[in-house]
Amino acid sequence: MDFTLSPEIDMLRLKVRAFVEEHVIPLEADRANYDAHENISLDVLRPLRDKAKAAGLWAPQMPKARGGLGLPMIGWAAFYEEANRSIFGPLAFNCSAPDDGNMNVLNKVLKTDAQKDQWLQPIIDGKIRSSFVMTEPHPGSGSDPGGMMLTRAEKRDGKYIVHGRKWFISGADGATHYILVARTSDDPRNGLSAFLYHKDQPGWRILRRVPTMGPEELGGTCEIEFDNLEIPEENRLMEEGDGLRLTQIRLGPARLTHCMRWTGLAKRCLEIAHAYVKERKAFGTTLDQHESVQIMLGEVAAEIEKGRLLTMHAAWKLDQGEKAQKEISMAKIHVADTLNRAADVGVQLCGARGYSKDTVLEWIYRYARCAKLVDGASEVHKMVLARSLAKEGNDFWSWG
Ligand SMILES: Cc1cc2nc3c(=O)[nH]c(=O)nc-3n(C[C@H](O)[C@H](O)[C@H](O)COP(=O)(O)OP(=O)(O)OC[C@H]3O[C@@H](n4cnc5c(N)ncnc54)[C@H](O)[C@@H]3O)c2cc1C
Repeated sequence: MDFTLSPEIDMLRLKVRAFVEEHVIPLEADRANYDAHENISLDVLRPLRDKAKAAGLWAPQMPKARGGLGLPMIGWAAFYEEANRSIFGPLAFNCSAPDDGNMNVLNKVLKTDAQKDQWLQPIIDGKIRSSFVMTEPHPGSGSDPGGMMLTRAEKRDGKYIVHGRKWFISGADGATHYILVARTSDDPRNGLSAFLYHKDQPGWRILRRVPTMGPEELGGTCEIEFDNLEIPEENRLMEEGDGLRLTQIRLGPARLTHCMRWTGLAKRCLEIAHAYVKERKAFGTTLDQHESVQIMLGEVAAEIEKGRLLTMHAAWKLDQGEKAQKEISMAKIHVADTLNRAADVGVQLCGARGYSKDTVLEWIYRYARCAKLVDGASEVHKMVLARSLAKEGNDFWSWG
C-alpha cells in the first residue's frame, strides 16, 4: 500500500497552503472583511478569487477544458484540506458548498456541451452561485426524501408544474441556478425527479432566510415556496424517476468533500490551540508541559488522522469508479465528530481567549454543529452502515 501523494498533487497542496497563509488567513482577523452573516464579504472575496485564478488555483474539481484543475478525488482531498485551513479558503478557490457539489453533479449528468455552457460554466467561472433544493419542513421530507417528499412536479403539455415548500436551502438567497428535487409519482423507488430552474422564472419565491446558530454560507439557508413554477421538459436532469439517483450522485462526493474541508478546519483548531499553550504559563510551566493538555492534543490529532485516512480511502475508491457508500458514511460520521471535538478542545485550551472573537475558534465551534446534520444526519449514516453489515456479513470488511 502506497500512502504517498504524487509529486504533482503534493506540489499543488503546498501551493494552496502558501496561498492560504499569505492571502486568506490574514483576512480573518479584521471584522470589516465579514458580511452581515459572518462570511467573507463579496467586496473582499472578488479580488481574492482573482488572485487564486491568477495563481492557477481555481475550481480543482472541474475539468481542465472548463477552466478547472481536473484533479482526481485524491487530489481534491489534498487541496481541500489545505484550502479549509482558513474559514474563507474554499470560497477563495471555488470549492465550497453548495456550488462544489452542484458543479460536480451537473458536470456528470448534463448531456450536451450546450447544456454545460448554459448551466454549469457560469458557476465554474464564479459568475453566479447555485443551490440544491431538496429538504422540506414538516410534514415533508428531511432524512427520508424518497418516502416523504411532498413537493410535486406534475407533467402537463410538455412542462412540469411545481407546487410545494422547501427549507434549509444553502446559498438560495442570491443564487441564479437551482437544482430542484420534486415528486413526479408515488412509486416508492422511482417517485422523485430532478430539474434545473433559473432565478428569473416566475412561480417561486424565497419566504425567509432561516436564522441559524452558525455562521452562514453565502446566501444563507432559505425557506422557499413553489406556486406554479413551470419547468420545460428539457430542463429535467436524467430521466423521470431518477431524482434519488441524481441525489446519490451529488451527495456521495459532496459528503466526502465536506470531510476533506472539515479535516482542514479541525487541524486549524489544533494549530491555534498549540500556538497558545506553547506560550501561556500556569503553575510554573507553559501549558503544553501539562500532561492532561498533551493528552487532549494527542487524542484530537489521532482522531484527525483517522478521519483523513477514512476520507482518503473513500476518495481512492471513488477514483476506482466505485460508489464507496459505506466508506463515505464512515468518513462523514467520524470527521463530523472530530471537527466538533477539535473545536471544543481548541476553545478549552485557549481559555477565555478561545471563547472570544479574537480567534476563529468560536466561529468554527458554532459552524461545526451542523456537520452532524447536513447531507444526512450521523444516525442515518449509521443506519446505512448497519444495513450493509446485515446484508454483507463478513464481506463488509473486504479489501477489494
Ligand atoms: C446548515 C445546513 C445546510 C443545509 N443545506 C441544505 C441544502 O442546501 N439543501 C437541502 O436540500 N438541504 C439542506 N440541509 C438540510 C439537511 O440535509 C437536513 O438537515 C438533513 O438531511 C436531515 O434532515 P432533517 O433536518 O429534516 O432531519 P429529520 O429528518 O427531521 O431528523 C431529525 C433527527 O432525527 C434523527 N433521525 C432521523 N432519521 C433517523 C434514523 N433513521 N435513525 C435514527 N435517527 C434518525 C437524527 O438525529 C436527525 O438529526 C441543510 C441543513 C443544515 C443544518
